[in-house]
Amino acid sequence: MRSHHEVVRPLLADGAERATRYLEGLEDRAVAPAPAALAQLARLDTPLPDTPSDPAEVLALLDDVGSPATMAMAGSRFFGFVIGGALPVTVAASWLSTAWDQNACLYRVTPGVAHLEQVALRWLVELLRLPAQCGGAFVTGATVANFTALAAARHAVLDRVGWNVEADGLFGAPPITVVVGDEVHPSLTKSLGLLGLGRTRVVTVPVDAAGCMRADRLPPLDGPTIVCMQAGNVNTGGFDPATELAAATRAAGAWLHVDGAFGLWAAASPAHAHLAAGISLADSWATDAHKWLNVPYDSGVAFVRDPDALQAAMAITAAYLPTATPFRNPSDFTPELSRRGRGVEVWAALRQLGREGVAALIARSCRHASRFAEGFRAAGLEVLNDVVLNQVLVSFGDAETTKRVIDAVQAEGTCWCGVTQWQGHTAMRVSVSSWATTDQDVERSLTAIVRVARANTSTAAGSSQAGVRGVSHA
Ligand SMILES: *Cc1c(COP(=O)(O)O)cnc(C)c1O
Repeated sequence: MRSHHEVVRPLLADGAERATRYLEGLEDRAVAPAPAALAQLARLDTPLPDTPSDPAEVLALLDDVGSPATMAMAGSRFFGFVIGGALPVTVAASWLSTAWDQNACLYRVTPGVAHLEQVALRWLVELLRLPAQCGGAFVTGATVANFTALAAARHAVLDRVGWNVEADGLFGAPPITVVVGDEVHPSLTKSLGLLGLGRTRVVTVPVDAAGCMRADRLPPLDGPTIVCMQAGNVNTGGFDPATELAAATRAAGAWLHVDGAFGLWAAASPAHAHLAAGISLADSWATDAHKWLNVPYDSGVAFVRDPDALQAAMAITAAYLPTATPFRNPSDFTPELSRRGRGVEVWAALRQLGREGVAALIARSCRHASRFAEGFRAAGLEVLNDVVLNQVLVSFGDAETTKRVIDAVQAEGTCWCGVTQWQGHTAMRVSVSSWATTDQDVERSLTAIVRVARANTSTAAGSSQAGVRGVSHA
């Protein structure tokens, strides 16, 4: 039997070596996993082992079979789903924090992590220009951040009419009016369902050509009401009109919630902060750190202007839990009790980048998106949106042609972009949110996309595409 020391050091060193080699290899491999790599996955699908095996062999199998079967989301030319990569310092911080194995629920038990998270929350509030008194919670992503913030909203609007929703639920409660835009993200709709507010029992406000809520079409607000707006439309990057919505909700005593999974980060870039004007007037906010801040999964954050409303919705007490402390217990603000200290990677990202580094990351992504749009237009392709942030929608002709080109782009492997439906059109969506994407990555991807588009549209019978010109290398 080998000692603990003899096993741990070589195993973790091997893990770090394999992970590093994986990341270095992303530059030269296709972004999507090869069909041959996916075929190998069957090797992992053995019967449940009866006996233990060598941990080094387990890791080797995972790397040999698992690594090639990944999508290169950590690389510099993945442009799907607005999700970004992971800054090297956050990957390393995540390894360290995983080694700590802290259960981040209570300050007295894991003071180091609780303290780091408190600092990270304060930095986020400042960076995203939210009210200083905000309460916050580190959760798994924007879906759960929406859920968490809306639970605080549900508490507050019913508390104002004398109803305790935590104690008595929604049975017999005064009805809550929930208002959303026609382009509401499906994860927010799901959160409404989980909270008993109903996925479809909502008042829907029409949107404009950028997918943004029309403030002039907001219904009259009366009684317990939650208005859910979006900062950053997943197709266009557009922002709902926060200033007008905040004025209307404040006048009516309603709650304004912002789904800003990626768009909230515009506030961190002086060149883009105007897009987020008025957003600090809301009552709650949901965002992701695993998207534009580029920290590893899973990492989202909920903020609530009134920390007491968040605590009322989330806190639990039990005889064996040492909750009586002068410090902030993270679990008083989160849906989870036991939880990994995901704020550690956020702290590391913000400590490394600083205010200027975050602003540069946001601005660079937006510049890359503009260059994509310019390159597409120069090639004779139709860009469907006004590129205000990091999102570009491009059409290659009719729906069938566009889907064929997208499949071919994904198979070609230089980059990866997904399909979307936008106001009756099928389009390819290019989302630029990785710290790793360079000017050369954008040019290489543009060249590949235009080449693939040309090869797949010229032969298309009945294609409405006039023809795809080459990209000019300015
Ligand atoms: C990504 C996204 C979500 C969901 O975020 P997850 O981190 O996947 O839970 C919600 N809203 C918007 C606008 C998004 O872009």
